[in-house]
Amino acid sequence: MKHLIILGAPGSGKGTQSKKLEEKYRFKLVSTGDLLRAEVASGSEVGNMCADIMAQGRFPENKIIYQLVEKFLSENAEAKGILYDGFPRTIEQAEFLLDILKQRNETVNTIINVQVDKDALIKRIVGRFSCADCGEIYNQYYKVPKMEGTCDVCSSVSFKTRSDDTEDTVKTRLTIYEEATAPVVDFFINHKLNVVVVDGMRSVDNVFHQIESVL
Ligand code: AMP
Repeated sequence: MKHLIILGAPGSGKGTQSKKLEEKYRFKLVSTGDLLRAEVASGSEVGNMCADIMAQGRFPENKIIYQLVEKFLSENAEAKGILYDGFPRTIEQAEFLLDILKQRNETVNTIINVQVDKDALIKRIVGRFSCADCGEIYNQYYKVPKMEGTCDVCSSVSFKTRSDDTEDTVKTRLTIYEEATAPVVDFFINHKLNVVVVDGMRSVDNVFHQIESVL
């Protein structure tokens, strides 16, 4: 089984690219952010523990994240490939992932590092909204629905924003990214794994093309 990781700051577009990769290559996508948001929305015990922490842009305990990832891996044991979005976010999480893969005689095959300028990140995040029904991602500055108020993909008229996509929280999330997640790139390089850098300032299709060329 192949394991691919997509790394990038909040707003780098890694969520959009992951969904495209999932669709085209049928990888199983594990987005720890999506799994956590689903827990919060369901009102589960885990969700209630995480809601405030996530709204502030901070990280829930590793134990919760590991359980979600392990459950996902056991439910997708037959997948030909797994694509990780938003995980690992710290060196400790990266060590955990390499450990559990080692037990299966597997490793991380490719790490895609999507790079975007900091100013663009803030605008991308605060402008972000999505279809409440199909999850298609839009942005008030860069990509609005073709017909105002109607989703291009599923024609829903209901949209939502993330509770952590506010200007204040974005700054915290970017700082945490710099401190905790950016070093994960060097961690993988030091482990002699295949890290590729992608220019995330280009169009969605161009970034996708860059990623496809290294798969
Ligand atoms: P994302 O959708 O990847 O931007 O994640 C949204 C939020 O979920 C983050 O700001 C964290 O609060 C939480 N989160 C997602 N993935 C992780 C992770 N691997 N470790 C810790 N917290 C996470």
